[in-house]
Amino acid sequence: MYIVSACLAGIRCRYDGRCNTDECVQSLVKEGKAVPICPEVLGGLPIPRVPCEIISHGATRQVINRDGEDMTGEFVAGARKTLQIARVLGVKTVILKSKSPSCGCGKIYDGTFTGRIIDGDGITCRLLKDNGIEVYTEENLPHL
Ligand code: SF4
Repeated sequence: MYIVSACLAGIRCRYDGRCNTDECVQSLVKEGKAVPICPEVLGGLPIPRVPCEIISHGATRQVINRDGEDMTGEFVAGARKTLQIARVLGVKTVILKSKSPSCGCGKIYDGTFTGRIIDGDGITCRLLKDNGIEVYTEENLPHL
């Protein structure tokens, strides 16, 4: 069983109410091999919502939205719920949406809302990795 980013499975849960359907990921869900999850919605955020990015202050990371509001609590709550679900399901591998401040793996936006990409993980991706779960993206799918 996998967990996948819900927006990759065709669920319209992005900040702008749209999705990023990936046919391969959607097929996994249709075949009953993957559970779609949106950490930001699990964390209590609405659809649509103001887009967020991560700002680093040394070792501390803060999530702010484009209006300058601190959304770190919601992002951390969503990450923790995603980890809980992974544990209940015994999930060892997840496929998450690249570059998202929650789901991004290895590359994320730099916190300036200018489209610039830097090295780093989204909040959920980082928590899952720290707990031994393998993270892939739609740009780097595992051998299924
Ligand atoms: Fe997709 Fe993850 Fe963003 Fe939800 S939090 S819309 S699953 S990238």
